[in-house]
Amino acid sequence: MTYDQNNIFAKILKGEMSCHKVYEDETALVMMDIFPQSRGHTLIIPKASSRNLLDADPATLSAVMPLVQRVARAAMVATEADGVRVMQFNEAPAGQTVFHLHFHVIPIFEGVPLGTHGGGRADDAELAALAKAMAARL
Ligand code: AMP
Repeated sequence: MTYDQNNIFAKILKGEMSCHKVYEDETALVMMDIFPQSRGHTLIIPKASSRNLLDADPATLSAVMPLVQRVARAAMVATEADGVRVMQFNEAPAGQTVFHLHFHVIPIFEGVPLGTHGGGRADDAELAALAKAMAARL
């Protein structure tokens, strides 16, 4: 399996496509998922190029996991969630649709079923407000 330099997340990392950015440092970009499975669904995208977890440099994983934890904590506070799910998919049969490594942080609200993976597009104003609320709590 090869890495496609023109996948959607590579284009966002290069600034060729816009996103609802929450945070960025030398290691990773954090942004809102525009087809969220719940309110506050956020993606952590390491900047290093890898297709997924299977071909990632362990150094990249070491650097990014503390940020995944920070985002999960921020999501709990910013959305007043009851729990949070962290997910990561490897290859299409496992549910991966964008082939650049990323981690999902999905707030869970008691009694509210999750939306489908890659379902309806969220409202941009709502995503912008959530990105701001998340950024304030990171
Ligand atoms: P995966 O199926 O694990 O590869 O997840 C890819 C995620 O990216 C899905 O949850 C999509 O909703 C999300 N997604 C796809 N395109 C965009 C985009 N342009 N901006 C933000 N999120 C996106």
